[in-house]
Amino acid sequence: MHELSLCDDLIRQVQLLADQHHAQNIARVTVSLGTLSGVEPVLLVQAFEILKAGTAASNARLIINTVPVRIRCDHCGREADVDPNRLICPACKSLDTQLLSGSEFILSQVELFVAS
Ligand SMILES: [Zn+2]
Repeated sequence: MHELSLCDDLIRQVQLLADQHHAQNIARVTVSLGTLSGVEPVLLVQAFEILKAGTAASNARLIINTVPVRIRCDHCGREADVDPNRLICPACKSLDTQLLSGSEFILSQVELFVAS
């Protein structure tokens, strides 16, 4: 499962952040997930639940922000959100489009508990 290795990297990143900030615990991990990223949110949550055990993220919740697929048309300049399987300009039907967002899998926010 592709999501397991992605999640393994994710937990490594948040563990590193927790260490850098001398945090005891991680409360919440937020990721941005593009609908073209090929990552299945349900599988990602399952992988997170398995892999977080024994790490600083063992009590953390995973929040997934879904990022829509957005393109810019090279022909008419229009920017639009489109279906992941139809990267066609809605205005002029051109196929000359550039992907602006929708393929990302990014760690966007981590909430840490730091003992005072
Ligand atoms: Zn166009």
